[in-house]
Amino acid sequence: MKSLVIGGGPAGLQASLDLANAGYDVYLVEQCFSLGGRAVQIVKNYPSLTFIKDFMKPLMDDVYNHEKITVLTNSEVIGVDGEAGNFKVKVEKRPTYVNLEECKDESCAKAMDVCPVEVPNEFNVGLDKRKAIFAPFSYSVPSGCVIDEKSCLHFKDGSCSKCSEVCGGINFDEKKETVEIDDIGSIIVATGFDPFDPNLRPELAYDKYKNVITSLEFERMLDENGPTKGKIIVDGKEPKSIVFAHCIGSRDKKVDNPYCSRICCMYTAKEAYMAKEKIPDATIAVSYIDMRAFGKGYEQFYEEVQKKQVLYRRGVAAEIYGNGDKVVLRAEDTLLSEPYEFSADLIVLAVGVEPRSDSAKLANVLGLQLDDCGFFVEKNVYDTCETEKDGVFIAGCCQGPKDIPDSLMQGSAAAAKAIGLMQRCNT
Ligand SMILES: Cc1cc2nc3c(=O)[nH]c(=O)nc-3n(C[C@H](O)[C@H](O)[C@H](O)COP(=O)(O)OP(=O)(O)OC[C@H]3O[C@@H](n4cnc5c(N)ncnc54)[C@H](O)[C@@H]3O)c2cc1C
Ligand code: SF4
Ligand code: SF4
Repeated sequence: MKSLVIGGGPAGLQASLDLANAGYDVYLVEQCFSLGGRAVQIVKNYPSLTFIKDFMKPLMDDVYNHEKITVLTNSEVIGVDGEAGNFKVKVEKRPTYVNLEECKDESCAKAMDVCPVEVPNEFNVGLDKRKAIFAPFSYSVPSGCVIDEKSCLHFKDGSCSKCSEVCGGINFDEKKETVEIDDIGSIIVATGFDPFDPNLRPELAYDKYKNVITSLEFERMLDENGPTKGKIIVDGKEPKSIVFAHCIGSRDKKVDNPYCSRICCMYTAKEAYMAKEKIPDATIAVSYIDMRAFGKGYEQFYEEVQKKQVLYRRGVAAEIYGNGDKVVLRAEDTLLSEPYEFSADLIVLAVGVEPRSDSAKLANVLGLQLDDCGFFVEKNVYDTCETEKDGVFIAGCCQGPKDIPDSLMQGSAAAAKAIGLMQRCNT
């Protein structure tokens, strides 16, 4: 009996590994070109400040190289029939147009060099550009290049095939295929989240000012291998004052997100700490509703951050406006019930965790329910892995906001539940 895992972020990777180590054959279906999920866009973890790459890369490699795991990247589940213990699954596998077995690192670099097309790089949240043939990120798994057919001129109008002149691995004739897998005993859904789109709060002027950015853009700037080589730079200048605004798109009924996103208090504390390390003379302030530092070591880390002269002031972000080169955050002090303003060179919006925009499509394929906010519904409050559908489990941020350790833990819990079910089906 086999198992299917949908989504190759921390939760799905951990679930796949646990299932495979227990002796089950696993199919891991990932929509993107590489494993890793959102976690690989993050540089350091809180509260340890260890590099996330040092954890994620070996996990991705272990899964990819495991003899019992078949990884299908650039793929999606398009049909599921049957029942617990015996599902039949259809997966659409899209072409990458690059045969990795014939691809050498050098030819990748040459192919990217000759490619005339530049488009915004999704991995760096549009802070730089990538080519139509590209490597998803520096430690992607599988490694090597892929062609994005939406921007490639060969597929648009047939006017280019330059990469195939320098790389023997290019195959423009590759077609999408449907992979049918039967004897699937259990399915684990670990499809993660979308970051909140700050344009849904136009009064925060995210689209208007270059020096109003999201926390994910800020994370990418902190990466030594990222678009700014680890420098915090906005409009060519290093900011000397930075304000972080909490709860953007969370705890906010006006945007239909009444819930707390659970991660943004702590990732902001981490980002403020790292900003202070990179620009020691910068003034840094955080506008927060209340501080949620509930994990092991989190409260102590929050205290450490405050010792770095990071000013915390209670406030609900109300509006952002420009004033010369500066941007000004107007907030409402929730204790004193009075407005105040923070003027800064840079404002970072701590965007919350949103259900993925395509969750309803997958819920429909699997016969699962979504809650009022759009996250997958767990069976009950005491069992957050099982769903109303026997044999289908959920893990990670697709069930609700959580950080990497909690996503990993729920991935393991879902795998344990799936193993239990498959053992019962076999007896
Ligand atoms: C700015 C920011 C900073 C953060 N900093 C930290 C931090 O310091 N420490 C920490 O612990 N956490 C941090 N987090 C949170 C962390 O990113 C999440 O906890 C973690 O990524 C959740 O893992 P996941 O596996 O549930 O989902 P994801 O990482 O979102 O992975 C889900 C995967 O599923 C794939 N997928 C989605 N839909 C489908 C589909 N239909 N078919 C196939 N595949 C699909 C996606 O492509 C993706 O690869 C931060 C988040 C943000 C936004
Ligand atoms: S064929 Fe496409 S990917 Fe290759 S070089 Fe031309 S535009 Fe780039
Ligand atoms: S974790 Fe903190 S910043 Fe994020 S929604 Fe909850 S209270 Fe707001």
